[in-house]
Amino acid sequence: MSPSDPIISLRGVSKRFSTRRGEVHALDGIDLDVARGELVSLIGPSGCGKSTLLRLVGGLLDPDAGTVTVEGAPPRAARATKHFGFVPQTPALLPWRTVRRNVALLSEVNRTAGGKVALTTEVTHALLDEVGLGEFLDAYPHELSGGMQQRVSLVRAFALGAPILLMDEPFAALDEITRAEMRYLLLRLWEGTGATTLFVTHSIAEAVLLSDRVVVLAARPGRIQVVEDVTLPRPRHEAQEDGPEFVEQVRRIRHALLQGRSA
Ligand code: ADP
Ligand code: MG
Repeated sequence: MSPSDPIISLRGVSKRFSTRRGEVHALDGIDLDVARGELVSLIGPSGCGKSTLLRLVGGLLDPDAGTVTVEGAPPRAARATKHFGFVPQTPALLPWRTVRRNVALLSEVNRTAGGKVALTTEVTHALLDEVGLGEFLDAYPHELSGGMQQRVSLVRAFALGAPILLMDEPFAALDEITRAEMRYLLLRLWEGTGATTLFVTHSIAEAVLLSDRVVVLAARPGRIQVVEDVTLPRPRHEAQEDGPEFVEQVRRIRHALLQGRSA
């Protein structure tokens, strides 16, 4: 593999589930390459297979047809060598460990498991401090608000140093203001570590703000409607969100989503 080869590659990927109500064709003929260090968002209607796609990439599911490779090998191999960090919709912090221990614990595990540790303890603590959690290092998850927990969860994911981060609607449960802050926290963490990131969202503006590319999925069966390049310069900042380029990108993705719905 050369460094310019895609780190994630899907070719003709299909996935069906057998359910009591019959067979669900969750994904059909997915072709997608993700370059090293890219931030790619997946957007599409509920049930179009976004979570399934993340789970296929993360080696938690196998496709029925087609191939998925990560670093040129099956995802299960990458999973075994701790190549993935998962950020779910609700923060999966260990309830019996303090913030400090939640952030540190898995980086100790990862250090011995092939994935390089991207952020040191000092940097991680400095980041937690910056996002208003400096006084909460010795607090337990239940003592924090949902937004604070998700901040810890996000900082932790990057601190662990996994080269690929899979995020499944991590901000969906947050209020709009907290969510806006989280977007910029994510951007700063991503810029600082260069982790390849696949990010599922329902928010078009969020996808545009964060991404290098936005993959628009259509439902039943889930397939790629269009892939939009986001050409906004980086680093991204709040003023861009009101600019004509941003508005135009949002408009194009909204149209693609509507087309996918009626197709
Ligand atoms: P999304 O994340 O885009 O909302 P999912 O990937 O969760 O969509 O699901 C895609 C489709 O596959 C849905 O119709 C869902 O009900 C079905 N599905 C997902 N996982 C399973 C499963 N483990 N068993 C049966 N059906 C499933
Ligand atoms: Mg989902």
